[in-house]
Amino acid sequence: MERPLLNRRLAEFTTTIFAEMSALAVQTNSINLGQGFPDTDGPDQVRDAAVRALRAGHGNQYPPGPGIPELRRAVAEHQRRCYGLELDPDTEVLVTTGATEAIAASLLALLEPGDEVVALEPYYDSYAACIALAGARRVPVTLRPDGDSYVLDLDELRAAITPRTRLILLNTPHNPTGTVLTREELAAVAELAVERDLLVITDEVYEHLVYEGEHIPLVSFPGMRERTVSISSAGKTFSFTGWKVGWVTGSPELVAAVRAAKQFLTYVASGPFQYAVAEALALPDAYYTTLRADLQAKRDLLAAGLADAGFKVYRPAGTYFITTDIRPLGESDGFAFCRSLPERCGVVAIPNAVFYDHREEGEHFVRFAFCKRTDVLTEAVTRLKQLAG
Ligand SMILES: *Cc1c(COP(=O)(O)O)cnc(C)c1O
Repeated sequence: MERPLLNRRLAEFTTTIFAEMSALAVQTNSINLGQGFPDTDGPDQVRDAAVRALRAGHGNQYPPGPGIPELRRAVAEHQRRCYGLELDPDTEVLVTTGATEAIAASLLALLEPGDEVVALEPYYDSYAACIALAGARRVPVTLRPDGDSYVLDLDELRAAITPRTRLILLNTPHNPTGTVLTREELAAVAELAVERDLLVITDEVYEHLVYEGEHIPLVSFPGMRERTVSISSAGKTFSFTGWKVGWVTGSPELVAAVRAAKQFLTYVASGPFQYAVAEALALPDAYYTTLRADLQAKRDLLAAGLADAGFKVYRPAGTYFITTDIRPLGESDGFAFCRSLPERCGVVAIPNAVFYDHREEGEHFVRFAFCKRTDVLTEAVTRLKQLAG
């Protein structure tokens, strides 16, 4: 049998660095700052709401295909309260199995084989795989270090658009660099999308984790309503990454298109959790403010510790990741560095090169997650400082 079992589209996506690094963390009893999940659960009140729903028999059988009405209304209300956006919960909101399914369904729904997708590099690992599954081609536009942050070069973005470009896949706040695109940058992206008649998918899962600047949904710019698929989820905002409740918002036409693909991926998921997330979205502003303040303090703690340990630190304006440059430590290969770090000091991180097509651009950068308990971060910093000594 000459033909490989795995189809050609997926051949380059068989392993993920997260599995390798998490296994290494367990083996060496290291602190895992690799994968981005919180080590404490979200609010008790929200967890209790899930238990109540489950016991009351709400959502234990297939919920409605587009998501339960309570959650669709809560998503619409959240968009109104936070951003002044008006959405019809019946036609402009679709509940998905986390943002991951929302991304997959959107790409599968909107792309034809051979289409080009422009995405900001370094990028979240599912983007490349889903673009490949859709038979489309990814065209990376590289965010580059500038001072103590990463920036988008708008000329490069413009130059990446060809007659074959169907859509731009945007992620702001951006994982792994922590970049939050400014109003001016978003306005320029929107203008470009209108001028070249492109669709845009925006991954906004870190919308509430912004420490400097503000999160502005791209859909709020002129001409973007009919061409933007906005995606978010409960995982990062409420610290329940295992629940996998996400959502798509957009025009009725775009939402209907995404639903056509989504219905054959999972059909539905997370029944009782949908009820709990509907309650979570209605939490008062104080919840979001506290979440942000808590994570900002953790960012500052880890950023200072990494700098003391000898890393060059790029200060994230959002998300819960810090990207560092390892060259000041006399290192240049992020893969080798991350594979040796658990043995050397008992900490696990992720080499940013895995998020690049142009691997050389990311070679000497390493990502640390700070969504961990303060005592865990303090211990990690103590361990990392051994590198300097
Ligand atoms: C975590 C993450 C997701 C996945 O979100 P889920 O709701 O857990 O599926 C998508 N995009 C980015 C950028 C992420 O960091």
